[in-house]
Amino acid sequence: MDAAKIIENALKEGRKYLMEHEAKSICQQYGMSVTRFKVAKDLNEALKYAEEIGYPVVFKIVSPDIIHKSDVGGVIVNIKNEEEAKNAYKKIMENVAKNKPNAKIIGILVQEMAPAGLEVIVGAIKDPQFGHTIMFGLGGIFVEILKDVTFRIAPLTMEDAMEMIREIKGYPLLKGYRGQPPADENAIIDTIMKTSKLLTDFPQISQLDLNPIFVYEKGAKIVDARIILE
Ligand code: ADP
Ligand code: MG
Repeated sequence: MDAAKIIENALKEGRKYLMEHEAKSICQQYGMSVTRFKVAKDLNEALKYAEEIGYPVVFKIVSPDIIHKSDVGGVIVNIKNEEEAKNAYKKIMENVAKNKPNAKIIGILVQEMAPAGLEVIVGAIKDPQFGHTIMFGLGGIFVEILKDVTFRIAPLTMEDAMEMIREIKGYPLLKGYRGQPPADENAIIDTIMKTSKLLTDFPQISQLDLNPIFVYEKGAKIVDARIILE
């Protein structure tokens, strides 16, 4: 389904929150690299898709009522075979039934387990005065505790994106710290620029979070995506 249609559908259903598969599908249409994924409506489909995508996989709850999936025990990573997949499916459904009993459940998002990489975040919020502001930072403690982030108002130029990456305090980590390989800066710039384009095309997006993005020596992959509409 095309990006405009996904947004239109959500609004028609009275939803402001796009689920991960919807947000990732939009990102994909803008040429961004996301983990391979499929929405399964029951256990049998989940097992079939896990086989198709190839183990190890990740299972996540799909619900319009659950924004922070791991907070309710709705994410299980590194599922290595069919037996683990059956257990993970059961466990997620149990967790969600206990922690968010009234949530509408669509199914389980089956996705490839992305290899570990340097974690970065690209985010955006819409300011009533300035419009979309794009944020960039390193993931985890760098954002949450050290607040090592940088902002620019969209639309961005390539220079803006380049500056953003280079001005965070954690930049040396991207350059490859203590024998770690350097992260692909161009892949980050590319993701930021495509995010800027997406926001320009859809002024009705009030918030966007690509968190985390795994960055490799070559390329990057969006592991989780969230979009909230006005
Ligand atoms: P939440 O809705 O709680 O933010 P996420 O989709 O971000 O859920 O998943 C939580 C964490 O699980 C991520 O921050 C990441 O560390 C890990 N994770 C999620 N999906 C994958 C994946 N496809 N490959 C590897 N790790 C993943
Ligand atoms: Mg996340």
